[in-house]
Amino acid sequence: MTNEQLIARIDEIKQSRPDNLMARHFDAAYYGSLDAPLQTRLRKIIASGVENPNSSMGAYAMAPDDYAQFAPMLDAMIRDFHGIAADTPIAQPHDWDTSAVACDLGAIDAKLKKVSMRVRVARNVASFPLPGAMSKEQRVAFEDVAAAAFAKLAENPDFGGQYLSITPGSPHEIDSDEYDRRVAAHQMFKDMSNDKYLNVAGISGDWPYGRGMYVSEAEDFLVWVGEEDHLRIMSMQTGGNLNALFARLHAGLEILGGLLPEFAMSDKYGSIGSCPSNLGAGMRSSLHMKLPRLTKGGTDLDRVTAEAKSLGLAVRGAGGEHSDAGSDGLVDISPSARLGVSEMQIMRRLYDGVAALWRLETAGVHRSL
Ligand code: ADP
Ligand code: MG
Repeated sequence: MTNEQLIARIDEIKQSRPDNLMARHFDAAYYGSLDAPLQTRLRKIIASGVENPNSSMGAYAMAPDDYAQFAPMLDAMIRDFHGIAADTPIAQPHDWDTSAVACDLGAIDAKLKKVSMRVRVARNVASFPLPGAMSKEQRVAFEDVAAAAFAKLAENPDFGGQYLSITPGSPHEIDSDEYDRRVAAHQMFKDMSNDKYLNVAGISGDWPYGRGMYVSEAEDFLVWVGEEDHLRIMSMQTGGNLNALFARLHAGLEILGGLLPEFAMSDKYGSIGSCPSNLGAGMRSSLHMKLPRLTKGGTDLDRVTAEAKSLGLAVRGAGGEHSDAGSDGLVDISPSARLGVSEMQIMRRLYDGVAALWRLETAGVHRSL
């Protein structure tokens, strides 16, 4: 594709898909101001959004310094996605102090104690390219580095567990039945080899080499290796206590961070992620909730998506991004912004937003009882 063709194609996407943030913020004059090597780099970053016009973000970084290098374009996308006003500097505060406010879903409604809670952070180490630019050898080498850290983590009484790999021939290799079972249990990530967004970005390359997951004995602390970021570190629980959920993730993250090479971090962008949506805290905290009335039995996500959006929340299907709701109205609700907000602010946004959504879901129900 010549530069002229690329610019014309993005112009077309701008018109037909106004939600594609890459197209919305692509500026032909800025692109034209770059020298040829930088144009080639930027083309690779935006390839997924060019090939897949229905992308919501449409760009993936290939190296941590892409964010600073291409700030004139990526900062505009970042501000748009994370809701950072033009007159507010992009900066990431970190605050994990869970004692400030109690966020117990049981205080909203005792029924919500049964809700499945998940919080994850994306992390990438500074010494490897981001997943879209890794070779097969680098993917496997990174998995070895992670497995060595997990061997040490396994000795910790609070975080003991096992590493499960899907790399053919790995000493930690699991069979396809166990892999499928772990995916169905919402623990392990899905097969990425048919994901058209990740394929174009190079992120799903060399599947399934270099991929796996650490799981604690209680199955409440999990670490993905080789998905969209080098690592996705998460805690999963029920019981309604968001403070405990976040504290568990933080404790595990601190220990694991000490066992791994340095993470790619920036004062401005916080934790560096492949996708501009996963910068900052790099955190997505979600509840798997049944909202049968707001979703018309899981058949229509339009209303709940609009209500959630006004509360700063995003809605996904029960199987994660790009999946459908469950027939009982089971959806995944999480705060959208991950940059410019601290970990604790994300927890509060989730709590306050879900309280508001739950009021809408149950409006009229109690009165008619
Ligand atoms: P992310 O991109 O934030 O890591 P995905 O949307 O790719 O998450 O989903 C990953 C997996 O986690 C999916 O199986 C999804 O159903 C599961 N999941 C997400 N939130 C929850 C939750 N609160 N409880 C249980 N499973 C969850
Ligand atoms: Mg995902």
